[in-house]
Amino acid sequence: MSIKEECVLLILSSPSGAGKTSLSKKIKEEIKNFEISISHTTRKPRNDEVNGKDYHFISKEEFLKKINNNEFYEYAKIYDNYYGTSKKAVNDLLEKNKNIIFDIDWQGTQQLVKFSNLKFLKVFLLPPNKNELEKRLINRNKDSDKSLSKRLKAYEEDKLHWKEYDMVLVNKDLEICYSQLKKIIKNYSNKFQLPSFS
Ligand code: 5GP
Repeated sequence: MSIKEECVLLILSSPSGAGKTSLSKKIKEEIKNFEISISHTTRKPRNDEVNGKDYHFISKEEFLKKINNNEFYEYAKIYDNYYGTSKKAVNDLLEKNKNIIFDIDWQGTQQLVKFSNLKFLKVFLLPPNKNELEKRLINRNKDSDKSLSKRLKAYEEDKLHWKEYDMVLVNKDLEICYSQLKKIIKNYSNKFQLPSFS
């Protein structure tokens, strides 16, 4: 990865269902020059997901081949599926001087930050409490019962990783959380005098 000090490289992690996908989409739509890093996954697409837009959906065999070919900056096995960040996709965005949002879990974050020539802004998002998380996961109705219980179980471990991040936000209300996140990005850009944030 080449050094791009003028870019905001935002890692957004959270337990599943805390709202990071909605936040990432809002940032991309509303803040200049932000792109979401589109991950590869072996998870099956949900009804409303589009290949190449939400994820690159690939088979386990293809994924393992990419691991072997060293094509990922990071990858992790989460709820029985693989998820990974493609080097090529990220490098293409860096070449275009884009700010990048990485919607990845704590395992991926631990791997990405090892690329010490890059500076990341790491934000961890939490739901107000476990009951609220369960309600959101049920309401979004995107997971089978099995997947839902795995996600709730993982919450207990996932939430412990907040300490590895620069900032922690509690997502009680998406709009409030978004404006807090926007301020965090702006302060970060000012601190490092990054020109690409407006
Ligand atoms: P979901 O199945 O709900 O789309 O995602 C499950 C979890 O995988 C979320 O916490 C999400 O942030 C994480 N995830 C998505 N893409 C990646 C990736 O490329 N790498 C890693 N490590 N985690 C990812």
